[in-house]
Amino acid sequence: SKALKVAVLGSGNWGCAIAKIIARNALRRTEFQKDVAMWVHEETVEGRKLTDIINEEHENVKYLPGVELPHNLHAESEVTTCVRDAHILVFVLPHQFLPGLLKSIKGAVLADAVGVSLVKGYLEIDRQTGSLTTGTQLIEAELGIPCAVLNGANVATDVAHDHFAEATLGCTSDQSQVLWNLLNTPQFSVRTTPDILGVELFGGLKNVVALAAGFSDGLGFPPNTKAAILRRGLQEMARLIKELYPSSSPDTLLESCGLADLLTTSYSGRNRLCAEAFAVASGTKSWEDIEKELLQGQKLQGPSTCADVWAMIEKRGLENKFPLFTAIQRAVTKEITPEGVFKCIGLVSAT
Ligand code: NAD
Ligand code: 13P
Repeated sequence: SKALKVAVLGSGNWGCAIAKIIARNALRRTEFQKDVAMWVHEETVEGRKLTDIINEEHENVKYLPGVELPHNLHAESEVTTCVRDAHILVFVLPHQFLPGLLKSIKGAVLADAVGVSLVKGYLEIDRQTGSLTTGTQLIEAELGIPCAVLNGANVATDVAHDHFAEATLGCTSDQSQVLWNLLNTPQFSVRTTPDILGVELFGGLKNVVALAAGFSDGLGFPPNTKAAILRRGLQEMARLIKELYPSSSPDTLLESCGLADLLTTSYSGRNRLCAEAFAVASGTKSWEDIEKELLQGQKLQGPSTCADVWAMIEKRGLENKFPLFTAIQRAVTKEITPEGVFKCIGLVSAT
């Protein structure tokens, strides 16, 4: 049978790190075409087009500096060219850009293509009913193709430098082998589960809890206190997933997409970093300013995911079951101080 064309849609920090893994696997395995296409949201970096820099220097100097990308990975700024004839579409872009991307490729995608989403934090809430659409559900609805999910404890730069990591692939049984072959390496160990929505929701919700972890660091609290907030956060994550999808497996929490991703993000992620700066600034800085200052063009997902989670909780009248998520949202919007978040877990000395 014909070798499968793979298109990576997104080329940021994680986009390039996973594209490196995919392009190496495509070279090794005969079921994939050797050339992998990567869509780049075009921009000018130091007077040159970013696509030209990537194709000539094999490095994304803006979003993943210092990492050589495989030479069979081609940057492409025309997204419809990128997806044309592609059998596997890998969605890996900041969640706020997903709807726009889907609009621009609708109609250009093969009818028998398969998607896999690495997006964390796309939670679209119907403000009337409180009902939820996740990223994979949106992809399936917009493109009419099945969509799997890959989430895990995967700080991008570390994966890009080939440090060992695990990830969780949520997918149906008919896609699991081909996607596993595309994504797994000895250093990037992928485990599969049918609990697609569980994997996707853990990946999104940990962005919210990681903000509280950053507050803890910014306020100078010791590891015991940070662990307390993470425990409570994990509990509310699992509780909300059970509320939304009672059929989600309780075992998913113990996969890489669950506890492990919460830990790595809360110790070395961007949400942690920005939330720490937010707490240190004691209300004097906006999230936008902090994102610009600290992330060099990369995107912070936590505050907007937090607002979506909160809308869902409020619409369903669940505030009493989710005091931590509620407090984090209030701190993010400066209604209370970051210290106030810790009162909700019983910390009394903070004033
Ligand atoms: P990033 O934070 O590096 O974001 C920058 C990317 O957004 C760039 O590719 C930029 O070109 C693109 N962009 C900017 N404006 C755009 C627009 N208007 N339309 C489309 N694209 C635009 O991105 P990332 O780190 O690759 O994150 C992608 C997803 O992967 C996110 O959901 C993130 O949560 C998730 N993720 C990230 C990491 C990580 O460590 N970075 C790890 C695991 C998962
Ligand atoms: P941040 O977006 O907070 O950097 O988290 C990265 C991540 O998802 C690690 O798995």
